[in-house]
Amino acid sequence: MENFRFDALKITLSRKPYKVSPPSKRVPDYFGEMTFNKKAMREFLSQEAFGKVISAVEKGERIERKIADQVASAMKAWAISKGATHYTHWFHPLTGATAEKHDAFVDPADEGRAIDSFRGAELEQQEPDASSFPSGGIRNTFEARGYTAWDPTSPAFIMDGTLCIPTIFVSYTGEALDYKTPLLKTLSAIDKAAVDVCRYFDRNVKKVIATLGWEQEYFLIDSALYTARPDLVLTGRTVFGHASAKDQQLSDHYFGTIQERVMDFMRNFEYEAYRLGIPIKTRHNEVAPNQFECAPVFEEANLAVDHNQLLMHLMKRVAKNHNFNVLLHEKPFAKVNGSGKHNNWSLQTDKGENLLSPGKTPKENLRFLTFFVNTLKALHTHSDLLRASIASSGNEHRLGGNEAPPAIISAFIGSQITNTLNQIEKTGHIVNDTDDGMNLSIPKIPEILRDNTDRNRTSPFAFTGNKFELRAVGSSATCANPMTALNIMVAEQLRTFKHDVDMLIRKKVNKKEAIAKVLVKYVKESRPIRFEGNNYSKEWIAEAEKRGLPNINSTPEALRAYLSDKNVKLFKRHNVLNRKELLARYNIRLENYTKQLQIESRVIGDLATNHIIPVAIRYQNLLIDNARGLKEVLDHKTYVKLSKNQITSLKEISEHITQVKTNVEAMKDERRKANRMESTDEMARAYYDNVRPYLEIIRYHVDKLELMVDDTLWPMPKYRELLFIK
Ligand code: ADP
Ligand code: MG
Repeated sequence: MENFRFDALKITLSRKPYKVSPPSKRVPDYFGEMTFNKKAMREFLSQEAFGKVISAVEKGERIERKIADQVASAMKAWAISKGATHYTHWFHPLTGATAEKHDAFVDPADEGRAIDSFRGAELEQQEPDASSFPSGGIRNTFEARGYTAWDPTSPAFIMDGTLCIPTIFVSYTGEALDYKTPLLKTLSAIDKAAVDVCRYFDRNVKKVIATLGWEQEYFLIDSALYTARPDLVLTGRTVFGHASAKDQQLSDHYFGTIQERVMDFMRNFEYEAYRLGIPIKTRHNEVAPNQFECAPVFEEANLAVDHNQLLMHLMKRVAKNHNFNVLLHEKPFAKVNGSGKHNNWSLQTDKGENLLSPGKTPKENLRFLTFFVNTLKALHTHSDLLRASIASSGNEHRLGGNEAPPAIISAFIGSQITNTLNQIEKTGHIVNDTDDGMNLSIPKIPEILRDNTDRNRTSPFAFTGNKFELRAVGSSATCANPMTALNIMVAEQLRTFKHDVDMLIRKKVNKKEAIAKVLVKYVKESRPIRFEGNNYSKEWIAEAEKRGLPNINSTPEALRAYLSDKNVKLFKRHNVLNRKELLARYNIRLENYTKQLQIESRVIGDLATNHIIPVAIRYQNLLIDNARGLKEVLDHKTYVKLSKNQITSLKEISEHITQVKTNVEAMKDERRKANRMESTDEMARAYYDNVRPYLEIIRYHVDKLELMVDDTLWPMPKYRELLFIK
């Protein structure tokens, strides 16, 4: 058969189950064995160098060149002992992916020999040819230089025989060209701001870290079927495809038994992840057929971001060995659930205390309330920034799609804390200072809030007992952007809080009273951001508007938050990004958006014209031949009676073909107009307003044709094949 689709199906169905032999060792025996972790450092470094690296990690101290030389040499020895031959600086350019350029350890020596070499200078700094990475106009081509610099807080690791050194990427004039640099800066901003506030309660707190536990959703598709779908290959999603007769309505996939071939894949990538020190904890089937999720134990946010980037790469690579393709796109299939990446976020002191965990004593609970209320207040003030941080063309399909949180940012906190906050608002009171110490005038906050708080799945920002869960992040996105936004928002808010409390203390208000007074004020002010109801409902959209909460569906519009005066000042005040850097990021994200829509629109045009219409016409001709034949053999009256259905189908098919053709032409016109726009802004907006609607219109007609045309002619695997065969 010369049908690409059936060839793909044949290959898929003829595959023997792929078996990996799981390592016979226990996980603790190989966990982190491919990372230059503390254990490896202790083994390969002198006591002095080890201490210096630990200080750099824990206190942010600089590492001198002499020590860097020692670390480089130790890393090299360690990496070579593990079979590595090359090294690379591993960084997060503004493409949103990761980048690496491999150099061999080998150096020519005299007498035609070669030696292994890797110096401190090479560890600390590299100069990749940066001219092909997006810079949003920061670097002109004549100053196309940027450099990468070692981030000792994220351990080096070995992947595919290469020692990878996590680094930041900055221009020679000092501007950030990556996602790690601003993230690290916000982590130190929140460290400082949170420590200052912690000291109201405990003088001994020295450091606060942000913690992140992400949950990664993805689809797995057999690679033969994947290859037979040019739209999946080129855009990561299906631009056509009628819903399958069965999809997720029976909910029989969610938490179902994991199929053997999928399980083999999971075991294999988890094995690789463990060796890289990624603490994967959970795996399960998701709501949609062929959709899955994995989640690690939470870690310090910078490390967790690196680990997520690494995991996405790893999953794709390991999937190849199992004849699977991983789809990380936010909405690969219409009418079934898309994929997200929940970001669980909290703050933790150097004593290991979770600042968003209610405590046992009144003092601990006041501290909990302080961090909790300040986070709500930060969300209320800066929801625009958080919304911008998750904006992308893929996520546009998902947000507000009745499966993912809407584009309106609000917080769900559960009934117990809601009651507490309501009471605070009503009485204007939190603490009672009594002779035998402090009491809270509010009901005791239970230590375990989980059962009560985990229920509302529709909220974009839910408090789940001891952390906030940001659920609006796209599955393919780096966590760096939302984490940067959240950290800086809360850092700013904590700083304002300290300022407000100190003002009262200066006016001789007792410290606890001052804290309580300011919190009461914040509880009132941030009330509009709290929403306990169904975020998918129409009523919420109207209610949110009344409350003045932004509801931004368009990516270009959401991204504008990066340029508002408020946010430019915010990033400047915390020394994270200047206006030029923000503008660059804004431009890159917009360009990315436009390019993705441009590619999708071209793919739709090509597929409609080259794949769909020819097949529809072939089927149309079959119907015409059939009608003609009937006319020849039947008397007129019988012919009229019997051919009625065929003629109706024929007319319908012709109508859909015409619609596809005219709309493809109209879309091309709009694309041409959009491409001629001068500014990045206008172009992105024209794509959103004028090109994007055609994607849906054309799809509608193609999907109708899919239902009518002879199945044996249809050129691409259908949803029932993509979603149910594995
Ligand atoms: P689940 O919701 O799946 O039942 P949990 O609520 O324990 O399980 O955790 C969900 C996610 O939240 C996990 O990825 C976990 O690592 C993360 N998480 C748990 N505690 C924290 C924390 N203090 N900070 C950040 N993430 C956390
Ligand atoms: Mg979750």
